[in-house]
Amino acid sequence: MKVTVAIDGPAAAGKSTVAKKVAEIKGYTYIDTGAMYRAFTWYCLEKGVDCQNEEQCVALIPEVTIKLRPGGTVLCNDHDITREIREPRVSGNVSYIASYKDIRLFLVEQQRKMAGKHSVIMDGRDIGTYVLPDADVKIFQIASVETRAIRRYDENISKGIPCTLEEIEEDVRKRDYIDSHRDFAPLKAAPDSILLDTSFLNVDEVVAAVIEIIDRKIKEKEEKESA
Ligand code: C5P
Repeated sequence: MKVTVAIDGPAAAGKSTVAKKVAEIKGYTYIDTGAMYRAFTWYCLEKGVDCQNEEQCVALIPEVTIKLRPGGTVLCNDHDITREIREPRVSGNVSYIASYKDIRLFLVEQQRKMAGKHSVIMDGRDIGTYVLPDADVKIFQIASVETRAIRRYDENISKGIPCTLEEIEEDVRKRDYIDSHRDFAPLKAAPDSILLDTSFLNVDEVVAAVIEIIDRKIKEKEEKESA
């Protein structure tokens, strides 16, 4: 049975860490939609385009090919930019890029195609509300801003990406604000999503909670279909 799981939530809520592990355990394909917005942002910065200039950024669409490889490698026009897309200069600009409707439509089309083929777990901001409104399972993962900032800080330091905790907390707050206030497909919980507060849970506990939700929802679906 083909299964689609949508995990949305604010910045640095641990969505991708959890989604990756759940994908491995359940044999699903993991799709990191944030990496696609980050890749587009990286390209704009490489081109020297001002990320707050919508017209100039949108004009780059025909030049951009983004590929997500199994294992997490991210390619933009065949350059491996897996590490670069996590740098503060990309994080600080990505929410502007993600607020442009034409860029969203361009990336969402690819996300829907990827989800059409396999069982997937996709994380982002608008997966349950816009990209996959018929997803079998929708989870909205949250945690306090302080917890999220500490988690992202530790992650960056372990990857060798220099940053300060203050910088990260400011970035997380700024992105949440822009992401939830944009006109088109903003960050918000789908009415039929399950809220998962991970503030006081470790990764293994969140993974177990997500798997429990998936198994329950799939069982309900199978029972409905056989009734
Ligand atoms: O998930 P991640 O933090 O890597 O996403 C980076 C940025 O990409 C978010 O802050 C948001 O602006 C944008 N994004 C989005 N919609 C998605 C995924 C990410 O707007 N589905």
